[in-house]
Amino acid sequence: MAETAAAGAPHVPVDDETAMRLALAQAQLAWQAGEVPVGAVLLDAAGQVAGRGHNRVITDSDPTAHAEIVALRQAAAQAGNYRLPGATLYVTLEPCAMCVGAMLHARLARIVFGAADPKTGCCGSVLDIGAHRQLNHQTQIMGGILQEACGDLLRRFFRERRRKDLSE
Ligand SMILES: [Zn+2]
Repeated sequence: MAETAAAGAPHVPVDDETAMRLALAQAQLAWQAGEVPVGAVLLDAAGQVAGRGHNRVITDSDPTAHAEIVALRQAAAQAGNYRLPGATLYVTLEPCAMCVGAMLHARLARIVFGAADPKTGCCGSVLDIGAHRQLNHQTQIMGGILQEACGDLLRRFFRERRRKDLSE
């Protein structure tokens, strides 16, 4: 991981793919906990990891406990500020309406996601919330970073779950 970062431009502490690999590691933790494997990391304006999260809706009995929300809460609490200007959130799956909304409220500089989500994705798949200029003045949204690896993890999870369902 450190080698990858060092190979990138020296003035950029962590490149998008390296950061997405950290989000993928969080997604693996979700899988280990029996949750749909989605993970997120938040880098602050200086490029330092300020929040990590994985999907934990079942664990917490909380419909809002998506990876992005968990990472945002951690970073905001640590910063002592509900706004995180200059920060970038990396998430393995295209964010839903709730998460995009929360990230716009936090005034993030960027949202970077991996795989598209045709069911609940709100960065272009189902809705494109970021495209509404009335809502979004500053957050850039970009998808497709390590989309194969991010999508593959989800496909393997659901395949395994179907196999378990069939064998029961
Ligand atoms: Zn969400």
